[in-house]
Amino acid sequence: MKIIDGHIHIGKWSNIFFNYETTVSQAIDIMKSSGVEAAVCLPTDATPNEKLFNEIKGQKEFKFYFAAWINPEDKELDGFLEKNLRGISLFKIHPSVQKKRVTDNSYKKYIESALENKKPVVIHCGRWKEVASYEHALELSKKYPDLKIILAHLGGDQPSLYLECASEVKKINSNNIYLGTESVREFYFVNKVVKTVGADKVIFGSDYNLGLPKMYIPIVESLDITESDKELIFSGNLLRILNNA
Ligand SMILES: [Zn+2]
Repeated sequence: MKIIDGHIHIGKWSNIFFNYETTVSQAIDIMKSSGVEAAVCLPTDATPNEKLFNEIKGQKEFKFYFAAWINPEDKELDGFLEKNLRGISLFKIHPSVQKKRVTDNSYKKYIESALENKKPVVIHCGRWKEVASYEHALELSKKYPDLKIILAHLGGDQPSLYLECASEVKKINSNNIYLGTESVREFYFVNKVVKTVGADKVIFGSDYNLGLPKMYIPIVESLDITESDKELIFSGNLLRILNNA
């Protein structure tokens, strides 16, 4: 079974994770020893896009899809995107770190660029509902129905949030809304999410360097679905949206 990790971080975190830092070669070792063949790689909040982008570009050992961290206050961002757009596979928005809802006006030009250049957008969704609720991400999707979005942490990293998110996603019934499994532990409820939205809407991720693929691979393996549906979650869905991008 082909496994792609749909959500890993490499680099250094700020104080939110006590300046913890990992390197590209550490990530490659972990991915390979976990049976992961490729990964969507995001910087951390204290690592510039350009630094990580150049580091992964310079190696041939492992396939990475780069996701650019969209911080509208980053003075280097526009130049970086302009120069490297072709090598960037996705955009990533973290409303909690940036303390701005994904619907904030400062994200608008990046959302429109993602749409125009067919880049899926990974949106962190969390428990800070006022700023990082999946509801804001779904509101964005209503405004831009052709934008491909991946709601990280299944839309909230807590069963009470992600079960609710799954039923909203089902109601919208869009082919452009996906749910990422990174850091979600409650396998029984993950199964319910997959039954609600369908295996073709769920994307495996580990949230490495915070989690490990081996912590989360068993959750997908334990789902009460066919092997081919598991393969969709492990890699098929992601490859489909990246290739149609
Ligand atoms: Zn993450």
